[in-house]
Amino acid sequence: MKERFDVIVVGAGPAGLAAAYTTAKAGLKTIIFERGEFPGSKNMFGGVLFAHSLSEMFPDFWEEAPLERALVEERYWLLSEDSATTFSFKTKSFGQPPYNGFSVLRAKFDRWFAGKAVEAGALLVNETLVEKLIQKDGKTIGVQTGREDGDVYGDVVIVAEGVNSLLTKELGIHEEWRGNEVGVGVKELISLPKETIQERFNLEGNEGIAMRILGTTRGMTGGAFLYTNKASVSIGVACMVEDVSNECVCPNDLIDDLKNHPMVKPLIAGGSTKEYSAHMIPEAGFRSIPELVHDGLMIVGDAAMLTILITGEGANLAVTSGRLAGEAAVKAKENGDFSANGLSSYKEAMDESYVIKDLKQFKDFAGYFHSNRDILNLYPSLLNGIVKQVIATDGLPRSEKIERAKAMLKEKKSYWQLMKEAWHGWRSIR
Ligand SMILES: Cc1cc2nc3c(=O)[nH]c(=O)nc-3n(C[C@H](O)[C@H](O)[C@H](O)COP(=O)(O)OP(=O)(O)OC[C@H]3O[C@@H](n4cnc5c(N)ncnc54)[C@H](O)[C@@H]3O)c2cc1C
Repeated sequence: MKERFDVIVVGAGPAGLAAAYTTAKAGLKTIIFERGEFPGSKNMFGGVLFAHSLSEMFPDFWEEAPLERALVEERYWLLSEDSATTFSFKTKSFGQPPYNGFSVLRAKFDRWFAGKAVEAGALLVNETLVEKLIQKDGKTIGVQTGREDGDVYGDVVIVAEGVNSLLTKELGIHEEWRGNEVGVGVKELISLPKETIQERFNLEGNEGIAMRILGTTRGMTGGAFLYTNKASVSIGVACMVEDVSNECVCPNDLIDDLKNHPMVKPLIAGGSTKEYSAHMIPEAGFRSIPELVHDGLMIVGDAAMLTILITGEGANLAVTSGRLAGEAAVKAKENGDFSANGLSSYKEAMDESYVIKDLKQFKDFAGYFHSNRDILNLYPSLLNGIVKQVIATDGLPRSEKIERAKAMLKEKKSYWQLMKEAWHGWRSIR
């Protein structure tokens, strides 16, 4: 392929597609390479797309995008062996424009998003692996693809290859991710009749629920999720790779634990598994973000480690980073300068956006969880035990129940330890 492009995008996930749409819409000659058969064919995520990032590009996208349900409830479950303590927030207003988030299936959604980039003028080349970034005098000038005669040249390459980020690792921009910097997630798509979902989750019309679950990861750093789609639920578990390999646990066993938990089992009863998928997740946050801008090169989305564990965000950060990188490429084209300096408005815009501000805010959070295993193991069961003790109406005076609950707590943790852990937890998110 001898043609030259203004912008070469590697990877047609949310980050790459947001970048390609932005540059193509501004009239820049843009090409996207995707290794999968079509965008979304190799992609998976838990299932929540927070609406704000996409509505900045497509103000009424919910009118045309293939979305599953508008999420009106966020429910948190702390599980012990046979109990659940629940925190929940539900509002009908999240079920109306401008919406908060939608459950989404990537095979459909990424395909739709790619269509928007192509409509804007981008050329999408599927089933093509970018094997290498071509360098000249320290500047990225193109990509080497797996196709015959497959070197393609351009002014800027936007790397949106996702968490593996092999291309930027090869350039020495970052080291291989360590086991405490990435997680592994497994997910099943379980089909259920629409009416069953409405009844079991107390939903009306197109409303959906996002459930986040702690206490089913055998004490490893991680959590589980369950999101409702139109006629299926997405259920899965994600854990830090280091823990999974140290504990020699097969992620498949974790999803079985979850599905067989007495609180979860009735929610999926009668359903049949339609899909099983596994994927890595960047988990280290702010401290692992590589330099985002280089001569002729920008890095966006998961390839830049842009996810926030505590809030379950990733796809929205990918879309925003892709859009901002696209806008920087447009500016660089106007100025005829694709050096790191000419592309620096990407880094500046990111620093000003919620993406970097939030990542900075939660920079110690993953480490806090990792070094305080009790949060994911001991505390959910302890909390359930105490709540059960206090709530059970069994003829014991309440004052005695409260004393018993205090004793249960003290047996496991001193007040001093509790305060110390709470203080460190608080510090990790401020
Ligand atoms: C289990 C799990 C649950 C998650 N849940 C959520 C959630 O509920 N909400 C949320 O916001 N985020 C969630 N995330 C995170 C979210 O999936 C990512 O943050 C988001 O997909 C990042 O988008 P991206 O475009 O950067 O990368 P990706 O979506 O990974 O896309 C990368 C694309 O690049 C292609 N590619 C890779 N290498 C090459 C190459 N060399 N040449 C050509 N093409 C290439 C891939 O095929 C892919 O299409 C979850 C992740 C996992 C694993």
